[in-house]
Amino acid sequence: MIGLISATAAGAVARDRLAAAWPGRTRVYDGPVREAVGRAFAECEQLVCFLATGAVVRLVAPLLAGKASDPGVVCVDEAQRHAVSLLGGHGGGANELALAVSGVLGCAPVITTATDATDVPGLDTLGWPVEGATAAVTRAVLDGDPVTLVADAVWPLPPLPANVAPADTAAVPGTDAAVEGGRAPGADDARRTAGDTERAGAGAGGGLAEAAAAAAVPVGGLPGAMAATVAAGVLAEAASAAAGSGEGRVPAGPAVLRVTDRLVGIGDREVVLRPPSLVVGVGASRGARADEVSGLIEEALADAGLSVRSVAALATVDAKADEAGIVEAAARLGVPLETYTAGELARIDVPNPSGAPLAAVGTPSVAEAAALAGGGELLVPKRKSAPGGRAAMATCAVVRRRPRGRLAVVGLGPGARDLLTPRAREEIRRASVLVGLDQYVDQIRDLLRPGTRVLESGLGAEEERARTAVAEARAGHAVALIGSGDAGVYAMASPALAEASDDIDVVGVPGVTAALAAAAILGAPLGHDHVSISLSDLHTPWEVIERRVRAAAEADIVVTFYNPRSRGRDWQLPKALSILAEHREPTTPVGVVRNASRPDGTSRLTTLAALDPATVDMMTVVVVGNTAAREIAGRMVTPRGYRWQTEGS
Ligand code: SAH
Repeated sequence: MIGLISATAAGAVARDRLAAAWPGRTRVYDGPVREAVGRAFAECEQLVCFLATGAVVRLVAPLLAGKASDPGVVCVDEAQRHAVSLLGGHGGGANELALAVSGVLGCAPVITTATDATDVPGLDTLGWPVEGATAAVTRAVLDGDPVTLVADAVWPLPPLPANVAPADTAAVPGTDAAVEGGRAPGADDARRTAGDTERAGAGAGGGLAEAAAAAAVPVGGLPGAMAATVAAGVLAEAASAAAGSGEGRVPAGPAVLRVTDRLVGIGDREVVLRPPSLVVGVGASRGARADEVSGLIEEALADAGLSVRSVAALATVDAKADEAGIVEAAARLGVPLETYTAGELARIDVPNPSGAPLAAVGTPSVAEAAALAGGGELLVPKRKSAPGGRAAMATCAVVRRRPRGRLAVVGLGPGARDLLTPRAREEIRRASVLVGLDQYVDQIRDLLRPGTRVLESGLGAEEERARTAVAEARAGHAVALIGSGDAGVYAMASPALAEASDDIDVVGVPGVTAALAAAAILGAPLGHDHVSISLSDLHTPWEVIERRVRAAAEADIVVTFYNPRSRGRDWQLPKALSILAEHREPTTPVGVVRNASRPDGTSRLTTLAALDPATVDMMTVVVVGNTAAREIAGRMVTPRGYRWQTEGS
């Protein structure tokens, strides 16, 4: 709940606007402000105070208890010019709240948290549990001090700046890898990939991948991107092996960022991120108590030297989906309970099958099989609870799952920055590896966070781009594959997903496709049934294209032509238009939009008879109306429906 506090009439107006915009999420605290702030501070997760920052500082100062428990506080001035994130920028969500409040009230967000201001993701915003000296390590990351990254595996982390580098390979600014620029790697040259890191990163020096690549022995036969990836994996493995044998102690001095599910001693200048790597399979007799289940899980993890904070899920057989002790144990850990049918579990090979669960629920193993059902490595074989005196009622087993990489397929929109969606922007900044056509990368280069590894290539390298993006995600990275307009429309989404297996997470971000951008400029040409047809016969036989144009012509559907004409393909557009002209009047309106939403964009409204194909190129879409489409006041309008139009008029 967000508590709203105001003192004056102007403040109350703004307060009520916010309350109206967010019904059910806000509560107004009336009365004397000191008391109102006090109550809201105690009762709400967040506060918006329509008061001067000075007043709010004095009011909340005596109430402050600590970063972990204090609510996020945002101040909005009486003139609604600024929304200031005052307290709890990350933990309390005040930075995001300031942005959201600004969206509603039209004021400017003021965010002073260093990590946001300098464009480095805060360690506490990665979404994983963090232990240790968060402030000191964050400071080191921001100040450009060397920070040693020690990761058990490649996880889809956001980009980290160049001064954060794997153990033993501290990034050295100015190495040849760091200064080399260049385009996407060709054959087996890991250093070229590293060079791209440098090009992408605003800061100096290398980066995680670069340091890895610099130390890598090129892997024969793999593309450079893969070589860098393999290198990073090898380093991570080496680091983890060393950590496992107790020899992984990082020399005193540099700050350490460790990513591990293991219980480790944490140094003064060290932070441990807990990745969601562990799955605990659980079996329980009817009526088993939550304390017994939870106690067993905690003991099993502790004995194996594993952190309970890395548990991503509990897993069991579906017959136990409602078993109160298991459900409660999952709730205490704050993780979901995955369930599998007895048939699914019975098919999984386990080290310790037994007769009891076979008789009770139809599978020789619940704990081990459920833990292993999603793949991974069995770290703790089945063990039973030891309730003391009574018969054991719970079993558990622990599996470490392979990290799942993340592939975001992101549409950038037609060109204008304000037609790039906020979600697209977020995904681009979330990714540590960006894959795309060079001209699209140029469109968003300024948005990239320092440390982003950019793998760009020229026209025609679609399949290689798709393969590279998927390979990087399979290696565990957070990858964004970008395309103009919508990335699924005549673009990268299909070749990428045709390559992708189910061991990565895929996120699609829709973009404004050229047809929609052009339509908005022309008027309302897509008001009734419409179709897009690409006239490029490079990958599609012309007979197929012609058949589709003919079908659209006969069905009287509005047509948007993508890829209408290039230097080497000049007869297809006239041919397509002539097919449409067999079914539509010469006066049928035709919109021609070039570079929609870009600074040099143009648009023309003409007719089927008057269109000069020579004025059309590859930066253009051509929208041909149906038989009901009209030019009205210089705009192209396709009526919503033939009948609707008559009835409505
Ligand atoms: N994924 C893109 C389409 C890629 S196909 C999208 O969803 O928009 C490339 C074709 O799209 C170009 O030949 C052109 O016909 C069209 N196109 C892309 N951007 C455009 C723009 N800003 N203005 C006009 N046409 C555009």
